[in-house]
Amino acid sequence: MSDTDTSADSADSTRTPTVTVVGGGPAGLSAALFTAKNGLETTVFDTDGTWMHKAHLFNYLGIGSVGGSEFMATARQQVDDFGVDRRQDEPVTAVSETEDGFTIETDAGEYEADYVVLATGANRDLADELGCAFTDEEIVDVGVNMETSIDGVYATGAMVRPEEWQAAIAVGDGAAAALNILSSVKGEYYHDFDVPADAERVFGDLVAE
Ligand SMILES: Cc1cc2nc3c(=O)[nH]c(=O)nc-3n(C[C@H](O)[C@H](O)[C@H](O)COP(=O)(O)OP(=O)(O)OC[C@H]3O[C@@H](n4cnc5c(N)ncnc54)[C@H](O)[C@@H]3O)c2cc1C
Repeated sequence: MSDTDTSADSADSTRTPTVTVVGGGPAGLSAALFTAKNGLETTVFDTDGTWMHKAHLFNYLGIGSVGGSEFMATARQQVDDFGVDRRQDEPVTAVSETEDGFTIETDAGEYEADYVVLATGANRDLADELGCAFTDEEIVDVGVNMETSIDGVYATGAMVRPEEWQAAIAVGDGAAAALNILSSVKGEYYHDFDVPADAERVFGDLVAE
């Protein structure tokens, strides 16, 4: 699959591309952070079953020690601050392909998206029902960019790994998926690079000296 050959190519180029993330654990929120921060309209559906509520992290580089729920609270605030439409406690019941994207169904309604990032932890049902290819180990088959066999659908985190279940890996998966989406939208490799001046622009007086 090429970086530029996705379902959003046929979408109206004057409209902001839309990304729906299913699952708001570390993988899903990481993907959402990158896409929202870089201008894509991003929605996250989550049912708060993240394993992080059972975890305490000592192995997340750059953080000495943090409770899993505390980590999630910070992550949620972070994506909210960048404008993610986070629909907590709204389970996605189905995802299906349309002519120019995807329909996401919940009990509350139907939503359209150009890209879908699946981040449902070890639950792979939606990927299976959508028709994503699986490996012999019965995990969703993805490459390093987290692209599934369906153009415009990404799978991240615990669902793409047999047992390598770590928060840092899930966060990396989400970031990789988002960067691939951004590259697809921009039509060239996208770098989400910020510099100190950006910190002042984004956070103003809150930036530490
Ligand atoms: C006891 C325990 C201790 C752990 N300790 C550590 C540790 O010390 N260090 C470490 O790095 N990792 C640890 N982990 C692993 C870490 O928690 C996982 O690697 C990480 O949570 C995986 O992230 P994820 O985003 O892939 O999935 P999850 O965190 O499981 O998130 C998936 C989310 O998707 C939601 N969801 C699922 N289906 C739907 C649907 N249909 N619609 C909407 N939402 C949906 C779920 O409710 C959940 O919130 C531990 C795990 C456990 C169980």
